[in-house]
Amino acid sequence: MYYDFLEECLGIGPIAGEKPPHERFPGAVATFTLEPMMQDGRALQTGTSHDLGDTFGRAFDVTYQGEDGQSHPVFATSWGMSTRTIGGVLMVHGDDRGAVFPPTVAPVQVAIVPVPGRDDASTRAVETTAADLKQTLTKAGLRVTVDSRPGLRPGAKFFHWERHGTPLRLEIGPRDVEAGQVMAARRDTGEKMPVPLSGIATAVQSTLDAIQMNLRLQAHARREARTYTVDTRAEIEETVLKGYAFTRWCESRECAADMQAQSRGTIRCFPFEKHGNEFRPIPNDPGPCGWCGNHATRRVLVGRSY
Ligand SMILES: [Zn+2]
Repeated sequence: MYYDFLEECLGIGPIAGEKPPHERFPGAVATFTLEPMMQDGRALQTGTSHDLGDTFGRAFDVTYQGEDGQSHPVFATSWGMSTRTIGGVLMVHGDDRGAVFPPTVAPVQVAIVPVPGRDDASTRAVETTAADLKQTLTKAGLRVTVDSRPGLRPGAKFFHWERHGTPLRLEIGPRDVEAGQVMAARRDTGEKMPVPLSGIATAVQSTLDAIQMNLRLQAHARREARTYTVDTRAEIEETVLKGYAFTRWCESRECAADMQAQSRGTIRCFPFEKHGNEFRPIPNDPGPCGWCGNHATRRVLVGRSY
């Protein structure tokens, strides 16, 4: 569920995996994590879940009656996803001009900016068209606002909505009203294109879908381009400066501590593969540990993190 939320709603390209024992929640049997990569190549642990086994049931004497009629300590899990996820969205999608929100979670999906005409009549025509457009798009289920703040130039309004990460801006001036169209500007690509007013709800919805998909694919492409399969200490040191090192690890805590001290890279997780709705550990790949050279059976993701 956390994975689907980060992947499909936020589009930040999480990698799911299991934490090594020394990174587990104290007392847990297993800790699972999601590790999306930020634009600077660092990981942000975004959402964890813990299999607590019966540790806490025993500690707090919480029991259930089994089929055998006897009392048994309960098994428990613990789940957490916090406000740092919002930081993840900003860091994965944002750019030098400000926030970029995926349409699914953008507080405002479409900002309509009326551009006044030279006379009252044309300005009124623009305002009426903007109000009608808002109604049409709202009826179609979208979150829409008309920026009718007085005393602000259209350029300042464009900048405002850009900075706030609004996925789509629709500009309407007197000439657009005459032509029966608006000028649409995508926040993700900066692309501008005219859109006819007739059938606009469908066109806007499909543009928002395209933005959602583009942000998601960009996050994936960036992460894949910055994930390196490496086998030596020098490569690990070099790789964690720019992204994730996918390397064998001997599963010794001392080795992980040394790696962290020398490279500032930490074992993010034993990554999983997704098969339908199921996550499975990736196949073993025995060989020498990338850091210390001792025997290792599996590969891990190593990265610097927030
Ligand atoms: Zn090692």
